[in-house]
Amino acid sequence: MLFIRLIESPFKLSKYTTRRLLLGNSANLCSNEGTSQDTMADLGFRFRRSWTAMHRRSRELMMILKGLASTDHPILAHIIPIRRCNLSCAYCNEYDEVSKPVPLSVMLERIDRLAHLGTTIVTLSGGEPLLHPELDEIIARIRKHGIIAGMITNGYLLTADRIRRLNQAGLEHLQISIDNVTPDDVSKKSLKVLDKKLQLLSEHAEFHININSVVGGGIRNPKDALEVGRRAVELGLTSTIGIIHDSTGQLRPLSEPERDVYLRMKRMAKRSYAQLNFFQDNIAHGRANDWRCRSGARYLYVCEDGLVHYCSQQRGYPAKPLAQYTVDDIRREYLTVKGCAPRCTVACSHYTAYMDFWRDPQTILGPAESEGSPQLVQLETR
Ligand code: SF4
Ligand code: SF4
Repeated sequence: MLFIRLIESPFKLSKYTTRRLLLGNSANLCSNEGTSQDTMADLGFRFRRSWTAMHRRSRELMMILKGLASTDHPILAHIIPIRRCNLSCAYCNEYDEVSKPVPLSVMLERIDRLAHLGTTIVTLSGGEPLLHPELDEIIARIRKHGIIAGMITNGYLLTADRIRRLNQAGLEHLQISIDNVTPDDVSKKSLKVLDKKLQLLSEHAEFHININSVVGGGIRNPKDALEVGRRAVELGLTSTIGIIHDSTGQLRPLSEPERDVYLRMKRMAKRSYAQLNFFQDNIAHGRANDWRCRSGARYLYVCEDGLVHYCSQQRGYPAKPLAQYTVDDIRREYLTVKGCAPRCTVACSHYTAYMDFWRDPQTILGPAESEGSPQLVQLETR
């Protein structure tokens, strides 16, 4: 998925979560909430969901404390189990139509290596991760290490049974990005197509679910984002708004109607969610952000070939095999200036950088700044 970043969830303090802890995922709207029609199975499911949410929140708190105590480990790694995708969104440069799944044994080695580096959240991304035939084993391995397990999916392959198996595997966060209400030639991640999947998630998932709607990037009807957000909240899921970056992960100022939708969505989200996404306000107004990108240190993007890159939009640096990545690499990249930072829209990297914004100015010139060094890779949109 192009811009949606699961790191958002652990950094947000959700008022909604409290209700969900007490009432379960369907707290907002489920029509038979608390009635005599509740079966023992319903109650058992709600108890499990509440317990899972409490456990998850306590681990997220530990993650924050660990991140504040030391800068020598990644907070979040995105890892690609398969680059193939069953969709072909026009703005996306993160998929192909042919790649095979990364073999399970290789994926498990990579998860073990991320654990060795002290990574606190691992998010499976793609391509479409649900196309990986052994995804549940990968999730279980992440959890075995005590790492928070997340996934970004387009949702097309979800069924009630698949959701239950994700519960069993130990998935903790899932994010779906919905781009429009009806499919068009830019994107088929559409509310009309995915609404049934959202209902299934609302009914069966024990993990946290965030629905991210988007503006920018050629999305035709910016107002669709509002409808997507409203539907997510109606189903008791959390909702966020994101801004689609261009093909290099960089800022493209929003048009007036897009900006209006962005601001209205933020107001809607604020009613149930305290958000730490100040950087997006600048992006919405076409302004540069003054921040330190800690990619390669606090945020890692591990591609299907097992190489660590700064992010999905700057593949090619440092491009070092994860198997050889060490704390020395983390320390170097933590202090390395990324020339693309001011106009970057890669949300997960911004979120991880919040942890360290107040400390450690960057002193090492990055690839775009040092003479004779390669420029950061500029990716092309398909
Ligand atoms: S669904 Fe597939 S093509 Fe669309 S943004 Fe996600 S990875 Fe890219
Ligand atoms: S600033 Fe960091 S996250 Fe953003 S595009 Fe550059 S390397 Fe990637």
